[in-house]
Amino acid sequence: MKSGVRMLGTVARPIATGVRRLSGSPGLTVIGWHRVDGRTEGLSTGVDDFRRHLDTLDAWGAQVLPLDVAVDALARGTLPDRAVVLTFDDGYASVVETAWPILRDRGLPATMFVVSGYLTGDLRFGWDELEPHHDRHRLVRSDELRAVAADGLDIGSHTVSHPWLPGLDADAVKRELVDSRVALEELLARPVHSLAYPTGGWTPAVRAAAAAAGYRVAITVDRGLNTDRTPLLSLRRAFVPTEPADLRLVLDGAYTMLRPLDSLRRRRGPAW
Ligand SMILES: [Zn+2]
Repeated sequence: MKSGVRMLGTVARPIATGVRRLSGSPGLTVIGWHRVDGRTEGLSTGVDDFRRHLDTLDAWGAQVLPLDVAVDALARGTLPDRAVVLTFDDGYASVVETAWPILRDRGLPATMFVVSGYLTGDLRFGWDELEPHHDRHRLVRSDELRAVAADGLDIGSHTVSHPWLPGLDADAVKRELVDSRVALEELLARPVHSLAYPTGGWTPAVRAAAAAAGYRVAITVDRGLNTDRTPLLSLRRAFVPTEPADLRLVLDGAYTMLRPLDSLRRRRGPAW
């Protein structure tokens, strides 16, 4: 993690903890990863680091909940203290092969957001094409997705083709949101009501389109704690920093103070 961000987080932690105590609402922390494999770099989290992250959650006293259960409790005001939801974006095969067995052994639920047009087994994302070819960049195939969903991993949509949604016209946004939901529901033979905005790209218009497309929950990459006032279609989330000490800052709500940086980044659009 950048040292400036860590310093800000360290300064903000006592304030965040105090605000959290005063607000009376325990809040929901949503965290995310991409790949779990090899060693920690870029979008990858090494297996040992992933285990350390889970140990940190355990030591913090996290109550890890399934996304739909957490959202129901958030909406009803019945969230337990230290409620956390675990998510994975993009649908990498390493989540199914490596992360999910570890989570299942520990009895931890999680949601993986997959790109419905990339489940064929032979496609890679543009940003992965820039790196040397490695099997760890492989995306999950539809047959593997069906099997892991039956095994208990919750599946949500990450659109059809992973576009920057704020840059599309209304019809294209609708297609990305509706077609991915329908494709996943047909594949998994169950309702799909959750979405993660690709690269965290959302606007109020995109959020309204997500509601119209049948989603109940949608997740951003705006950092911070979710409270009973946070719209369910723009839930906040932080990707897990490498260092367990930095994950503690996320869990303590310190990153809530960093949200202005996130909205600035959102207006600028993706780096790719
Ligand atoms: Zn993504």
